[in-house]
Amino acid sequence: MPKYTGTLHSKLPTVGTTIFTVMSQLAAEHNAINLSQGFPNFECSPELVSLVNQYMKKGLNQYSPMQGIMPLRETIAAKMQDLYGAIYSPDKEINITAGGTEAIYAAITAVVNEGDEVIIIEPAYDCYVPAIELSGGIPIYVKLKEPDYTIDWNEVKKLVNQRTRMIMINTPHNPTGAVMSANDMKMLENITDGTDIVILSDEVYEHIIFDNHKHQSVCLFPKLAERSFVVFSFGKTYHTTGWKMGYVLAPERLMAEFRKVHQFLVFCVNTPLQYALADYMKNKDAYMQLGSFYQEKRDYFIKLIKGSKFKITPAAGSYFQMLDYSGITQEKDTEYAIRLTKEIGVASVPTSAFYHEAIDNKQLRFCFAKTNETLEKAAEKLCKV
Ligand code: GLN
Repeated sequence: MPKYTGTLHSKLPTVGTTIFTVMSQLAAEHNAINLSQGFPNFECSPELVSLVNQYMKKGLNQYSPMQGIMPLRETIAAKMQDLYGAIYSPDKEINITAGGTEAIYAAITAVVNEGDEVIIIEPAYDCYVPAIELSGGIPIYVKLKEPDYTIDWNEVKKLVNQRTRMIMINTPHNPTGAVMSANDMKMLENITDGTDIVILSDEVYEHIIFDNHKHQSVCLFPKLAERSFVVFSFGKTYHTTGWKMGYVLAPERLMAEFRKVHQFLVFCVNTPLQYALADYMKNKDAYMQLGSFYQEKRDYFIKLIKGSKFKITPAAGSYFQMLDYSGITQEKDTEYAIRLTKEIGVASVPTSAFYHEAIDNKQLRFCFAKTNETLEKAAEKLCKV
């Protein structure tokens, strides 16, 4: 292909390929065990697969309504009422999306205008800031306080002003595994009460929460829910990250704006998968047991690497475990993550990728959504470091 020689003003001049793709590729090139990008390396339920198959064979292979099929939205509404006591209208307040990422992108695009400020908590998942910037918004950063990765609400409060359009939160948190408390939610409620601020709450790991912590969804707090987009993921809950299916909840006025964007971004998402999920979701055990399923994995992984030189603070939620390597080397986290992949054979994600500034806490993020065999092999290598 001949070169494009025209003028090009990149809309995202500092953005490269996402760290998840970079590290997964590096892992593949060097035949390393891939604990970098977050996805399970085990199968989803065969029952779910056969339901998809069934609906495809039935001929449900055309567009769905842009909002998503009604039976799935109804099932979600019932789940929200059951789990969080929140009433969402399937017709006006629930939308099926192409994964959490599309939901986040469309929500930001729908409400953030040129010059609007969006408060985000760092470390932050990598799709937040580009979406804000593409809308002409200005990300305003607040850092989680170490060692427990808690939010300093006074700092947040000081940053709120007339231009604050949105505050984004994420619990359970990627990459730290920290979870927000009921008190955190109360503080957020105090800060936003009486303002026009919209909250975008990324709750894709809602069921992956450990040690008897309760997931503090914004849906549990009516004063937060009335100003929130709440984002969920079928991929995380049903071990189907490759299906790119999620959903978003929001009060009617916010949802109406969301749909204006969503309908032109993807129009709708995969039809037969929506039918299959609508049936499969009725089985509550699949999600109610997810926390203990992953807690076992977290505990197993931690047990296996106990003798290593990494410092471990167990994750409270998500399927990520951060490991502190400051007792091993003073190398930059990006360099160490690459060396660990190439020389030791285990890929992870350097957590500096979740900050806008050059911050290096000597922490790597490891995904433990893997078979025990994979965790054992990875741990054996990590113990040799
Ligand atoms: N959410 C996954 C992670 O944190 C990555 C998804 C992706 O690669 N975009 O690793």
